Amino acid sequence: MEKLDIALLGLGVMGQNLALNMDRNGWKVGVWNRHTFEPFDRLAEFITNKAKGTGILGFGELDSLMSQLKTPRVIFLMVKAGDPVDEIIDNLLPLLEKGDIIIDGGNSYFKDTERRVRDLAEHNISFVGCGVSGGEEGALNGASIMPGGDYKAWPVIKPILKSIAAKAEDGTPCCDWVGPGGAGHYVKMVHNGIEYGDMQLIAEVYYAIKHLLDYDNGQIAEIFQEWNSGRLKSYLLEITTKILRHKDYSGHYVLDLILDTSGQKGTGKWSATNALEMDTPLDIITSAVFARNLASNKELRSVMHNHYNLNEHTPVYDGKDLISILESSLYAARLVGYAQGFSLMHVASEEHRWNLDYSSIALIWRAGCIIRSSFLNEIASVYKESPFIQNLLLDDDFNRAIKSALPQWKKGVSYMLKEGFPVPVMSASLNYFLGLVTKNSNANMIQAMRDYFGAHSFERVDCPRGEFFHENWLDTENDS
Ligand code: NDP
Repeated sequence: MEKLDIALLGLGVMGQNLALNMDRNGWKVGVWNRHTFEPFDRLAEFITNKAKGTGILGFGELDSLMSQLKTPRVIFLMVKAGDPVDEIIDNLLPLLEKGDIIIDGGNSYFKDTERRVRDLAEHNISFVGCGVSGGEEGALNGASIMPGGDYKAWPVIKPILKSIAAKAEDGTPCCDWVGPGGAGHYVKMVHNGIEYGDMQLIAEVYYAIKHLLDYDNGQIAEIFQEWNSGRLKSYLLEITTKILRHKDYSGHYVLDLILDTSGQKGTGKWSATNALEMDTPLDIITSAVFARNLASNKELRSVMHNHYNLNEHTPVYDGKDLISILESSLYAARLVGYAQGFSLMHVASEEHRWNLDYSSIALIWRAGCIIRSSFLNEIASVYKESPFIQNLLLDDDFNRAIKSALPQWKKGVSYMLKEGFPVPVMSASLNYFLGLVTKNSNANMIQAMRDYFGAHSFERVDCPRGEFFHENWLDTENDS
């Protein structure tokens, strides 16, 4: 039998489609799924249905699959993140040899990936933590792929990963080496964090149009469709338009039947936690995570709604004017959300010495992934021209765009707050931006209070940086 190019372990939604994608691109693929027959045998089901007529081979035992692989062996894990990844690695280790490669394509926490890269290097096995974005459709037809870890693996896995990646408009595969250690999974985590922010922004704008203008879903879809042909063009806006139009068999909009409690799997929370650990602002992503937490407590919200019984708003706004305001607000807030995500990666890259290439990351995100949008070409060019730019918002073109959107953006946030709509992410992005551009902030008051009650000291505006002073606040002789 001709030896196999790659083993794919884990036949969930993603694993099955990735295997089909690899097969379609000419790779000889062997697949395995753990033996659980509840509710059915996934391996048998896959081989006899979706994989029928392909060259994909199913294996019930890991050792027989490993023995059929070309060397160095390439094993792609697509299983639930966390303990399952370690369990599979433990089972694989006795079956592997020096130089073999394990790729973890799941949404693993980057610190787990760092540990696995280190531990497996001791066994001379190359470990690659590989962010994969694009959902099941991307897995089948082309995903955005972010591999990082042991660089020795890259020449071997590059042709396979590039072949199954989405292709940007210029034909470039949306896959490139990201960096050492947990860099690949870190970048995927930030991608998902930006996705959280972007989704919440779209939801806030949808809600505002629906309630301030009393538009139905079809009318809102028309607005979003038009926006999607301009500077806001993105996959998320495109699917929002389709969601708004979608009706069930009884003619009801499905969106209106969906209970308003949102779930999450954890990558947004990881981004927020990591930002806190690195003392880096990440208000936009963090507010989006908190918005989902608040939304999930439907019972409390119902009780509070009845308890406060606030008046329903009956606002009257000019449709055309408000739509233009909201378009600018969404544009500016989204751009600042991306900028904040890239800033977080800057800090992490310095801390972990990953030497991330931000232009390359933006290029990887141009197609296949959930946050693909027209911004990404512009972001890639900014970083290509100025790889060391401190913040995306320092770019001249973005400066002009934000400045021109700012008056509308402020209006958008204030209208929504005035009418009593929560806009946690739209306002977080504006607050972050205003905080960034405020030269003399209110932090002097914070330092004064810290010094007053805790003798934490402060620097002075009339002395060089790095000199610290403590005031005797209880000496009131000269006070007015
Ligand atoms: P599914 O829930 O569809 O499948 C999970 C897979 O993991 C199944 O094959 C399951 O096997 C296997 N598994 C679970 N526990 C174990 C274990 N202890 N040992 C061995 N195998 C185990 O998940 P997805 O395909 O959606 O996701 C797979 C990974 O990809 C996850 O890390 C996910 O976060 C990530 N991901 C998912 C995306 C998506 O859009 N769904 C997008 C990008 C990444 P069994 O059949 O026996 O239960």
